[in-house]
Parts: sequence; C-alpha cells; structure tokens
Amino acid sequence: MRLGEFLTFKRFRMLGHVGARCLAIFSIAWVGLCFAQTSTPYSGPLFDAHLHYNDDAWGGGQGPHPVPDVLARMQRNGVQMVLANSRPNEGTRALSEAYAQAKAAGVTVVPFVRLYRNRQDYSTWHQDASIVAMVNTELARGTAAGPYRGLGEFHLYDSAHASGPTAQALMKLAQARGLAVLAHVDDTAIDLLMAHAPQARLIWAHTGIGGTPVARVEALLARYPTLMGELSYRPGLTCEGGQLCPAWRELMLKYPQRFLIGSDTWVNQRWQSYDELMQGYRLWLGGLPPEVARAIAFDNGAKLFTP
Ligand SMILES: [Zn+2]
Repeated sequence: MRLGEFLTFKRFRMLGHVGARCLAIFSIAWVGLCFAQTSTPYSGPLFDAHLHYNDDAWGGGQGPHPVPDVLARMQRNGVQMVLANSRPNEGTRALSEAYAQAKAAGVTVVPFVRLYRNRQDYSTWHQDASIVAMVNTELARGTAAGPYRGLGEFHLYDSAHASGPTAQALMKLAQARGLAVLAHVDDTAIDLLMAHAPQARLIWAHTGIGGTPVARVEALLARYPTLMGELSYRPGLTCEGGQLCPAWRELMLKYPQRFLIGSDTWVNQRWQSYDELMQGYRLWLGGLPPEVARAIAFDNGAKLFTP
C-alpha cells in the first residue's frame, strides 16, 4: 500500500462509522463537526462485565426478574457474555443452570463468587474469616456453567481495610488459582490490593467512582499491567451528546485493551433501565475507532476468560 493510500485508509479507520459524505469534506474543522454529528452507535456484541443477579431480582425464581426476563434483556441488547456475581451466589448459580436457555439467547455466563451472603456482609467481610471459607466452598462446588472464574464484586469503604487478612487471603487465592477479582475500591486500595498479589487480574469496578482523576487512573494502568477498568457509574466519563469526555477518550485510545463496560444491576431499577444503559454505551462506543470500540465493548472481556 502506497503512503497516500495508507493515510487515506488510516483516516477512514479513525473516523469509525462516519457516513461516506463526510469523507468528501477536507477541512479538519468540518471533519470534526461531521464526526460529532454523524457517528452512529456501535452495533457489535457487548460483554457486560458487572452484572448482579441479586435476590431482589431473582427471588428464588419468584422475583420480578426471573431468568427468562434477564436473558431476554441481554439478548435484545446484543449482550453475548456476562460477568455474573450475585448476593447470594444462588442467583449466579440459577443463571448458570439455565445454560440451555442462555445458549438459545446467545449468552455465555462467566460466574464469579460474590463475597456477600446478605447485606450485612458488605461492610464486615474484610474482617470475617468465614468469608474465605465460604469462597472456598463455592469454588469447590463450581457451577453448572463450569468453574467460577473470579472473586467479587467486593467493596472497601475504607481503603485501609485492603491491608486486612481477608483481603490479603483472597487476593493471594485469586493469583494462585488464576481467578480475576472485581473490586469497588478507591485508588489507594488498588495499590494495597496489588501489593498482595502483583500478578492478579484486578478489574477496578467503576474505575474510581469517587472521582479519581484521569491522570491517576492512567498512572495505575501503567504501573499494573493486569489492571482493567470497568466503567459503570464512572463520574465525568461522558460529556455532550453522551460521547466520551476528551480526557477519557484519549486514555482509551492509549489503553484500548484495558477497559470494560458493565451494567451494575445492583438494584432492580438497573434491570428496568438495562436497555437504556446498553444504548448509552453503544452511543459513546460508536464515537471511537471501530477496533477500539470492539475491544472495549466485547473483546477485552472475552479474552480475560478464554482458557
Ligand atoms: Zn456492583
């Protein structure tokens, strides 16, 4: 390919799904305007890397969102893989046991062991040795969809608790067993958790929900090659028109392999707005170069859990 052809090809790829009429406009300013107005939503598969099927939704099959309901929500949104973790773990097992229905809906369930048996465990798990025992019992049991692939989501409301014995034990267990970890923590806790298990694959739920500066997120991604950022509830992520804010767009272009999207269906309202949540992701993904959009939307998650 000659240089001129290469530059045209490269520019075309950078523009993503921009309509052909935009390519006829040579002014950089006009190309920018054209891009903002006509980029179309990403239309490929999605990996939902932060899905809860909690008791409130499932309710032992009697809740407001039984398995066929949640599978239908995934299917109609093109969600082809989900990282499932539920309070209690029975919700994830129920999804896993429905693998024939999930397969028919085109959904693969990646099961994680949640650390919470009930709401009380959210704030006490880090000092509760029985959580480690429960996790080991679940890992030994596995699910109908195969072995558990990770631990979490867990929360640390005080990052100092990341140094506690339970967090240490679980991070080391994850590293030794090749399990990923989904953690809702601040940036200080990321350093503390990674110190326990430097090779562990840590998915940072919400990538700094407290408003960790983008520069600090970038520094952590650079320091820990196995750190991934999940993007639900991340303040400051999107700007005008639902597109990525410039600093985040730049970071994703720099680290396209390190981000994931997720629903965080922690309450039933999130199930009820599942369509809008996924449409919101598709909107800003459509503003990225197609290969970057595809990586963040699906491939990064799928690669994490490919044997
Ligand atoms: Zn969550």
